[in-house]
Amino acid sequence: VNRRGFFAIFVAGASFLRAAAQSLRGRLRNEPPSLEVNGQQIALTGDDETKLVLADARLNGLDFEVLGTRTSENAFTIEPIHLRALFVHRNGERLMVTYWCDVCYIRTFSPGLCWCCRKDTDLDLRASLD
Ligand SMILES: [Zn+2]
Repeated sequence: VNRRGFFAIFVAGASFLRAAAQSLRGRLRNEPPSLEVNGQQIALTGDDETKLVLADARLNGLDFEVLGTRTSENAFTIEPIHLRALFVHRNGERLMVTYWCDVCYIRTFSPGLCWCCRKDTDLDLRASLD
C-alpha cells in the first residue's frame, strides 16, 4: 500500500470509530458520576471538563444522555468535551448541556466561573446552538 492508500485506510478507520459512538440514557447521579439505566448503575468517566458537568448538582437526577463507548458491563467512557456528548431530555426535547455568562455573552460547555468576568456561569440547556 502506498502512502496515499495508507492514509485512505486510516481515514476510513477513524470514521468507523466515530460512527461507533454509543448512546446511553438514564438518570444522572453526581456522586459517584453514574447513570441509572433500568435499575443498573453504570459508572461514567470522561475528560476533566466532562467530569465537571457530571458533578453539577443542577443536573443531578435528570433524564440524561451521554455519547461514548461502553468499556465494560458497568462502565462507560464519554467522548471528549469538544464533541458535545452530553444531553438532557426534557418535555420530549433533547437539549445540549451548555453554560452561559449573561454579562459577557460567553458560552462554555462545562460549569464554573466565566473566564472573562469571573461570574459563576448559568446552566443553559439548549435544543441548538443557534
Ligand atoms: Zn462573564
